[in-house]
Amino acid sequence: MTTPSLARRVAAERRPEPAPPEAASRYVNQWVEPEAIGRERVPAFVLILKTRGCYWADLKGCSMCGYSKDTLGRSATPGELAAQLQHAVRHYRGEPYVKIYTSGSFLDDREVDPASRLALVRTFSGARRLLFETLPEFPTDATLGPLKDEFPGELEVALGLESTDPTILRRYINKGASPDEYLAAADRVRSLGARAKGYLLLKPPYLTEEESVEDVVRSIGAAAKHFDALSINPVHIQNGTVVEWLYHRGRYRPPWLWSVVEGLRRGAVVRGPSRLVSFPTAGGLHRGPHNCGECDAKVLAAIREASLDQTFDGLDDLDCACRPEYSALRRLEVLGVEA
Ligand code: SF4
Ligand SMILES: [Zn+2]
Repeated sequence: MTTPSLARRVAAERRPEPAPPEAASRYVNQWVEPEAIGRERVPAFVLILKTRGCYWADLKGCSMCGYSKDTLGRSATPGELAAQLQHAVRHYRGEPYVKIYTSGSFLDDREVDPASRLALVRTFSGARRLLFETLPEFPTDATLGPLKDEFPGELEVALGLESTDPTILRRYINKGASPDEYLAAADRVRSLGARAKGYLLLKPPYLTEEESVEDVVRSIGAAAKHFDALSINPVHIQNGTVVEWLYHRGRYRPPWLWSVVEGLRRGAVVRGPSRLVSFPTAGGLHRGPHNCGECDAKVLAAIREASLDQTFDGLDDLDCACRPEYSALRRLEVLGVEA
């Protein structure tokens, strides 16, 4: 089990030194990825801004999150954020879906000041949907209202709920807020006229493969009525995290892609009207969710297609020689036998 001292030590080690102005005028990354709005496939413009990053990462941080390596170690000035936007917008080709990430909370004034938030939203006001992420304490009428007024399309607020199990969330993932606070934030987001998207973590540390699948399916069922969309996010090993610490000591394996498949198949039954997706990061890599290596590309493609089309039946047809091995490993883990 993680201890506060380990979490704090790992958090302190990954925090960057305050960045000079020239580094702060460059965004972290930008790309275009396949997405869907309803049943229509659309390209999504993704932008990662360089900001102060998540305040919780400074205090303790979540056990799987290494995003603070992409931050400034201080707040970005409005001028620096404007410069990042100016560079990024050169690559914008009118994609209807826009996702702005800050390695933290877009609605936290310490990361993005209110005037810069408005400027960002105004820049992409031709898009149909604009997504950003935030911790649950920040979506309020005061933060969301002005953005709603500025953006004619749909705002989508993504919340890293991770699990609806309070023990898993607090002790294994090390989140600072409870599941109830996340569910209340999602309700608030919707009552303010925005879409709510929830991230659910597949295979937090200290859970077996079996327990992690059960947790994600249970969480989908419990969260579905609060969210317009739920995303199963399988853990990948990020630098400077507690999960990486365990991984290097042979005490953690990222989830199998078969677990993602099962999470989607069973989650689809209990998700109600909410959208259910999974777009695994680092899929097929040793530090990401993976199977045997032979079937990873095929299974990842099927997961992507199912997510985009919202049709999960095709996942039943997937097979590989490693699937019985995966099932056996799950049984052994349940029995407490070293696999
Ligand atoms: S997962 Fe979210 S809340 Fe946790 S440290 Fe990372 S950015 Fe902060
Ligand atoms: Zn395989």
